[in-house]
Amino acid sequence: MNDRFVFDVLLLSSLVTAAATAVVLVFVAAPYGRHVRKGWGPTLDNRLGWVLMEAPAPLVFGLCFMVGEARSTLTALVFLVIWEVHYIHRSFIYPFGLRGEGKRMPIVIAGIGFLFNALNGYLNGRWLFTFSGGYSNLWLLDVKFVAGVLIFVAGFTINRQADRTLRRLRENGGSKYAVPSGGMYRWISCPNYFGEIVEWIGWAIATWSLAGLAFAVWTAANLVPRARSHHQWYRESFADYPQDRKALVPRLW
Ligand code: NDP
Repeated sequence: MNDRFVFDVLLLSSLVTAAATAVVLVFVAAPYGRHVRKGWGPTLDNRLGWVLMEAPAPLVFGLCFMVGEARSTLTALVFLVIWEVHYIHRSFIYPFGLRGEGKRMPIVIAGIGFLFNALNGYLNGRWLFTFSGGYSNLWLLDVKFVAGVLIFVAGFTINRQADRTLRRLRENGGSKYAVPSGGMYRWISCPNYFGEIVEWIGWAIATWSLAGLAFAVWTAANLVPRARSHHQWYRESFADYPQDRKALVPRLW
């Protein structure tokens, strides 16, 4: 079995399991955050869980860059920077800003997240820096790259702003939930998920790759059902929840 065959099998499996995951998550909300519940085995500290499950993404992707034969262009470096800016924040900064006393997550969730991020870092890094054969520097001027990066930056900005709004809701300590407002919360319950999905659609366009597409599909498979669960939870938990607020897509859904 050569390296390329393994890559192709993993990429195909990733696309198939994304579709299956979306179906499962419609019926079973992943048990972390507000949806945490008993029956999912031993738990660990929430912040530690986030670090453990996200860290493989920047590490494996970085390793693929270092061993990649097609990494000597400026384009390769730009892809590395984009990925690492997102993932160094998500793995090593975001978890330490989380508020919520005594929050825990099931080890099984951290384990699944760990595996997913290792696989995703491998698929994207291996494609970009080896199997693609390299992206020339002219790719930086390609309309797909420029549009994809602009979309990525828009999604990144929306995601970060929405996560900051949630963090401010617990400024006074505790782990209570409140109704978020301002920014895109005027229209939807989960702008952080909306921004995340937009980000990785942008990445898929900028890299114009199946690995990038698989990641965008995975993100949607994860976060579309979760946005639905959050939205239902908000409506059931707050009698005054804004009636016209949608779950994930302004005005539509
Ligand atoms: P949530 O919106 O569920 O929670 C984010 C943080 O805000 C948690 O600390 C949560 O506390 C707190 N919070 C949420 N709502 C409220 C509220 N109404 N009042 C007070 N505090 C609140 O996001 P996730 O934890 O699911 O995801 C975190 C980040 O990771 C997001 O940016 C998301 O886009 C990203 N992500 C990306 C995935 C991908 O596939 N690419 C998959 C999953 C997440 P608590 O934990 O107590 O609920």
